Amino acid sequence: MRRLFISSLCFCFLQVSLGQQQFSLTPEQEQLRQEQRKLPVSQFASPNWPGQLIPTDSSMIKKIDDVLPVRGLAIGGPSRNGVDLFCKFIEEDLAPAHFNLLIIRVDWNYAFESYPQLRDPNPLTKEDVKKIVAVCKKHNIQIAPQINLLGHQSWAGTTYALLREFPQFDEVPHIKTENYSDYTNVSGRPQPYSDALYCKSYCPLHPDVHDVVFAVVDELMDAFEAHWFHAGMDEVFHLGDERCPRCAGIAKFVLFSDEVNRIQDHLAKSNRRLMIWGDRLIDGSRLATGLGSWEASLNNTSAAIGMINKDVFICDWHYDYSGLTAVQFAFNGLDVASSPWNNTAIAEQHLNDMLDWRTRNLQRAVTDHFQGIVHTVWSGVDGFLRTYYNPATYNVQSAATKEEQVAQNRRGGDARTLKFLISKFMELNQ
Ligand SMILES: [Zn+2]
Repeated sequence: MRRLFISSLCFCFLQVSLGQQQFSLTPEQEQLRQEQRKLPVSQFASPNWPGQLIPTDSSMIKKIDDVLPVRGLAIGGPSRNGVDLFCKFIEEDLAPAHFNLLIIRVDWNYAFESYPQLRDPNPLTKEDVKKIVAVCKKHNIQIAPQINLLGHQSWAGTTYALLREFPQFDEVPHIKTENYSDYTNVSGRPQPYSDALYCKSYCPLHPDVHDVVFAVVDELMDAFEAHWFHAGMDEVFHLGDERCPRCAGIAKFVLFSDEVNRIQDHLAKSNRRLMIWGDRLIDGSRLATGLGSWEASLNNTSAAIGMINKDVFICDWHYDYSGLTAVQFAFNGLDVASSPWNNTAIAEQHLNDMLDWRTRNLQRAVTDHFQGIVHTVWSGVDGFLRTYYNPATYNVQSAATKEEQVAQNRRGGDARTLKFLISKFMELNQ
């Protein structure tokens, strides 16, 4: 055991050493990395940790808690006018189906006081947020507010608030969002335009970026009274750009894992815990998973899987594929939930896999990492709820071809998948 531990450490050191020897650091880069190394290493697994999804009071534990500990939904934040309907949806649809986690993509849709210039127009107020908090508390649903960190700082021609207000944080300032044309080609497949922009990232080594980012994260976490924070961190394509004076030459898996650990360490100071999407931690190459550059990584970030803090919770999204990627996370000591979207058959496979893996004759330390299902909805929540409550959404004929099935899934498949999971979670608790 000890020998294995030493070997692992050596391997880990070798990876980092290779990352550093291959490229020489400037004195400024070296100083930044030394500062990051001083951050405290967080500790988790306290039985009294307040963000536990399973109640500590045994009289409140449900049958499904052992079978599938995490039953989550990741969805956008409502508009101010949509807050009451959103609360009704939580009360009448999610709570009776034993959902215990709600990841809410807030981003800049909150009336931040620390940096008011980052607010969206007509953002959620503290009073709006407290209505959501109240209904979730009533039903023991943990809230994980989300702000996209690192990547997803722009979309198409729009630069989002952080880089709009603090353009000095832009990892690729030479790429102008106003020149954006389209990232899809005629067949609808992702095809970055001439500057290869999908969405911008902030520079993780800019000396001032975390002062801003952590202030808004803390403010949002306090408002939601949350113990979980979701930082997104998916589809980070602009990382370690060769023109960045701070990041150039540093291995991308080092930049990525350092940023994940920095966020987790910050949260741990308040007894909080980080969730991220898992795609940057999966090798998407044909020699490995063959999953490509979107739901996996082709930009040399995947080695970070062995370097990130084991407290980080992974949401492993795969919408048209159900494979063994969650197993990779569990064997790396990371809690993981599988995330479907609009394909009910894939959601069923994810669910069956989770239930199966949790009961395999393996070390409990491994099976416990298979935490459950986090369903995803990617349209705006107000529009989604109109679809969800529309009876016509559920009146669909079976599709004749794969293309028809894909098109059909895009019209209400997320709502039908949610209904499917609701019925399954209720069944599992009987
Ligand atoms: Zn940089």
